[in-house]
Amino acid sequence: MLLYNSATRTRQEFVPNVEGKVSMYTCGPTVYHYAHIGNLRSYIMEDVLEKYLRYVGYDVTRVMNITDVGHLTSDADTGEDKMLKGAKREKKTVLEIAKFYTDAFFEDCKKLNIKTPDVVAPATTCIDEFIKVISSLIEKGYAYEAGGNIYFDTSKLKQYYIFNDFKEEDLEVGVREGVEEDSNKRNKADFVLWFTKSKFDDQELKWESPWGVGYPGWHIECSCISMKHLGEYLDIHCGGIDNAFPHHTNEIAQSEAYVGHKWCNYWFHVHHLNTNSGKMSKSSGEFLTVSLLESKGYDPLVYRFFCLQSHYRKSLVFSYENLDNAATAYKKLVARIVTLLKDTQGEVDSAVFDERRAAFCEALDNDMNTSLGVTALYDVLKANTTPATKIALIEDFDRVLGLDLVKAAKKIVEEEAAAKSAVSDDPFIREIEEKIQARADAKKAKNYALADEIRAELLSKGVTLIDTAQGTKYQI
Ligand code: AMP
Ligand code: ZN
Repeated sequence: MLLYNSATRTRQEFVPNVEGKVSMYTCGPTVYHYAHIGNLRSYIMEDVLEKYLRYVGYDVTRVMNITDVGHLTSDADTGEDKMLKGAKREKKTVLEIAKFYTDAFFEDCKKLNIKTPDVVAPATTCIDEFIKVISSLIEKGYAYEAGGNIYFDTSKLKQYYIFNDFKEEDLEVGVREGVEEDSNKRNKADFVLWFTKSKFDDQELKWESPWGVGYPGWHIECSCISMKHLGEYLDIHCGGIDNAFPHHTNEIAQSEAYVGHKWCNYWFHVHHLNTNSGKMSKSSGEFLTVSLLESKGYDPLVYRFFCLQSHYRKSLVFSYENLDNAATAYKKLVARIVTLLKDTQGEVDSAVFDERRAAFCEALDNDMNTSLGVTALYDVLKANTTPATKIALIEDFDRVLGLDLVKAAKKIVEEEAAAKSAVSDDPFIREIEEKIQARADAKKAKNYALADEIRAELLSKGVTLIDTAQGTKYQI
């Protein structure tokens, strides 16, 4: 399987640290507001990656943090704590809004068929872990105290910038741009591990630490939570592309300084969902959430389908027109499966099954090319094989795609059957249907006199029979 690794900027053969096992870490949401559908694009594509790894037989352990403290409005160390901002906006406590938006996040994930990771850890439950790692970084000379805060000293590293092709000087300007200078920092790129001297005295959540009462920086959360549950060697780290710098760059710096060797082998970054007016955001334009899409009549899985139709390393433009196209295509796909379900099933042809499965794997092995994976699914529908084979293949691919295609089709078939049986619960309708069947039997037996008699009898009761190519219909 080839996977693009942002750290090496190449597509690499995926080889986990331990044969057959994959450790996977995902930066979780900052729970100060609903997730927008841009955030959820990242989680959908990461979910497909996880499911595909399981599909091809890996034993995957996936861990996600919940950022409920320490993420400032600038991803660098300035600005207000996002959680505090959210709490003020809603006149609630930080923990109240953390609980509310964590629940809302997982409800959205459920609607989008995003599996809950094996471990979900809110940062506020791991404070001891952060203190342990920060203490060790100080001991090893990678961190220093200044003005009451603990900073990571980036000058101690051979290489700090990982994800960019730019020269270090360019990035340093980037670090400085639009960000207030923090005169405590020894180097421009240094970042806070622990705050005790917050500019925001009303910071709600604070903990005792060897350096005074304070709270952790955002970056240390992910390193510690990952290492706590997945150990010193991580196979895949996921996140949206905006997290590559400074968040993931800082995670690598502190994790490798702590463990003393390479930490994570593959960096899987999902590119952004944009609107026509630019990057999606929670504060400008229409705040696009799953509930908003539902209120406009869209099935959340149509949004998942929309995401799967493009590659995760390309930015994707959201518009209602594009979503409508996905909705139409999804509906047609389900309708074709409905037809398959109603057909005589036949046997599953294992040779065709294996051949089609190989085509699907080829698409996903090629750096998670989900749009080619969807094409492989359309090819199944066109294939010259039994309906049973097609249904089996679609169900199989859906273990990765998560579109509930056969489930949606079965629901339609069941609803149609229920509607039919509800009608025939009426004794008069049942009588008409029985008479129509008796007339069809009479015609088959060439007993046309009886057939005409039945037609006349029904007519006397106000029922007109109409013979069509699809069978006999009636009008009352
Ligand atoms: P946050 O809740 O801000 O911590 O972000 C949660 C996840 O969404 C992170 O992995 C971000 O990198 C990712 N993300 C943020 N904005 C977008 C976007 N417009 N498109 C795709 N992913 C995004
Ligand atoms: Zn993170």
